[in-house]
Amino acid sequence: MDFSPYDAVLLDLDGTIYHENHPLPGAIELIRRLEREGTCYACLTNSGMSPRQLEAKLAGLGVRVDASHIYSCPAATADYVMETFAPRRALLHGSVQASDAERPRIFNLATDGLHELLEGKVHWVESPEEECDAVCCASPAHSFASKERQWIALQLLRRGAKLIGLCADRLYPSPRGVEFGAGSMTALLAYAANVTPIFCGKPEAVFFHELCRRLKVAPDRCILIGDNLESDIAGAKGVGMAAILALCGVTRREDVAEAKVQPDRVIGDLRELL
Ligand SMILES: [Mg+2]
Repeated sequence: MDFSPYDAVLLDLDGTIYHENHPLPGAIELIRRLEREGTCYACLTNSGMSPRQLEAKLAGLGVRVDASHIYSCPAATADYVMETFAPRRALLHGSVQASDAERPRIFNLATDGLHELLEGKVHWVESPEEECDAVCCASPAHSFASKERQWIALQLLRRGAKLIGLCADRLYPSPRGVEFGAGSMTALLAYAANVTPIFCGKPEAVFFHELCRRLKVAPDRCILIGDNLESDIAGAKGVGMAAILALCGVTRREDVAEAKVQPDRVIGDLRELL
């Protein structure tokens, strides 16, 4: 496939580039080809890990991708937080260089990946009495989501903090089956505090818009390749991207006809694009 009509190629990770602990057919070759041809590309995931953490994980699977080509929902959340809360506070005080008191005030109920991305850029809220712009929430399995911290998050939300879910996934797969996803934990807090959350992961338009801003490309000049009809195909088409469905992950060929949003092309795996 000729990618030259597009300004950027977006590759879903889990189920498209790798599965469990092995790369999928054609994945390494496709990434190498995009690098050789100098094509702008990014690997996308709703994982709670930072791009640096994912770079190390992928290297362990034999897939060499620099963190600068990886975009995860903590990265989208960090971009959204800085865009939403930092400029307003800087404007408020007439300075671009925000002092600690002017930084976004964030409570991390999410992941160490989010902590890494926002460390030094935000003021970390730690107690229920503090002023707080937003609570960031992921799966309850992460170390930042202790019972005590869940309680603090609830108090902060009741006092007006915004609720940001890293992604809306109900579940995620684990060796023992499935676990509560970021969406489930966010729904619990939203219900308890009677607030409406916003989500930053796929398939939200926020995710794709923050990514395009970072890549300096327009959404309708991008093509996405992914294995999930909802989070990849519907998300990409929703912001005007072209989308290829790869049947090497969660979607079966018979699922495609029933999908409300249809991909532009369906492939068995990435070897068909080489
Ligand atoms: Mg996937």
